[in-house]
Amino acid sequence: MAVKLSFLGEPDKVGRSAYLVSGSRNILIDYGVDIDKIPKFPKTVSVFELDLFIISHAHLDHMGASPQLYVSGNMPCLLTHSTLDISDILIRDFMKLSGEYLTFEYIDFLNLERNSNFMSYRIRYGYRDVGIKFYDAGHIPGSAQVVVELDGKTILYTGDINTYETRLLTPADLDYDEEFDAVVIESTYGDTRHPDRFESERMFVQLARETIENGGTVLVPAFAVARSQEILLILYEHRFEYPVVMDGMAIEVTKMLLSHGRYLKDVKKLRNAFDKARKIYRWRERKEVVKEPCLIIAPAGMLGGGSSVYYLNKLIKNPKNRIFLVGYQAPGSPGRSLLESKRDERKMADIRYIRFSAHADSIGILKILKSLNGDPKIFVVHGNKESRLNVDMMARECCGYKVYLPRHGEVYKI
Ligand SMILES: [Zn+2]
Ligand SMILES: [Zn+2]
Repeated sequence: MAVKLSFLGEPDKVGRSAYLVSGSRNILIDYGVDIDKIPKFPKTVSVFELDLFIISHAHLDHMGASPQLYVSGNMPCLLTHSTLDISDILIRDFMKLSGEYLTFEYIDFLNLERNSNFMSYRIRYGYRDVGIKFYDAGHIPGSAQVVVELDGKTILYTGDINTYETRLLTPADLDYDEEFDAVVIESTYGDTRHPDRFESERMFVQLARETIENGGTVLVPAFAVARSQEILLILYEHRFEYPVVMDGMAIEVTKMLLSHGRYLKDVKKLRNAFDKARKIYRWRERKEVVKEPCLIIAPAGMLGGGSSVYYLNKLIKNPKNRIFLVGYQAPGSPGRSLLESKRDERKMADIRYIRFSAHADSIGILKILKSLNGDPKIFVVHGNKESRLNVDMMARECCGYKVYLPRHGEVYKI
């Protein structure tokens, strides 16, 4: 039976991801949402025909729509333990913000949880005649690259992947055992090179120190998952001597990550750094904390909601303060608009963008391409036009692969 690969999400941008591998069995990998004001879902699938559902990692663009599958579905869901627990936190938050637009409830996520099978990296899971294996993706704790073996074909989905070591995580595992017939590869930063990470850290810490010594406050809006903890660890490693404050969902996620130490590079360091930070839970404390110089880590990373928006409004009108955007800023997001806005520097806080990315850049993606065994067809996804074209060029010219740039709803024979 021919094996087909369907792109149910939007592979031509960084957004909702969903891939269906079909043959004698039907396996769905990821089912994410675009979080606009009204969330956008991938194409619908008939859950009664699904044999397996797999979640690569706990970001909403990869799993935000997954409870929808369990309104009436009961297929096994393969994921890591950490992915399930982070998803639980993010789904509850997502439902609070967008509940009125959703056709599932928390009870459907609980049904997904009941059908969960926890995967370990590098250990093959056999389900009837299907083989599934996870490799560490180095992107966020518990993130996985997914290998599917079906009807004689072997497919690798990189998920979101980072080939660089960070303070929080070890890099992606590229030591593959299999030969691949098809590879679905992400391309978020496929046309750029990351700046030197240690140099970025040094500059960040130095500017943060300067700000506080001048009587200002530093705000770091950061994603609750992984980036908030990475910032905490960077400050800890550089022996940052001023008060560090953590707010909101970042606290809940950090506690959860500490309970899943095996997915972290050094759980002890994160525990020490977290113990030293002041945790903020209440509005009264938020109002207090902005009165004294300190460094505040608060979600959300793109300023689309969460306590970072409150702090931004409090801090932006004082030129002594500094705001660091440290992650991906989607086109149209408040964070991106802030970076692109014209500002009078004498009246406003200093706004900087320092990239501590959790995705491979063009060098990292080339490294992945060169690590692949076999002669796979390459499908470039999860990136804008320029990024995808550059990965397309690298895959053809450096490795001689046949490359495809799939679009929403397209189906390919493997
Ligand atoms: Zn991700
Ligand atoms: Zn993603």
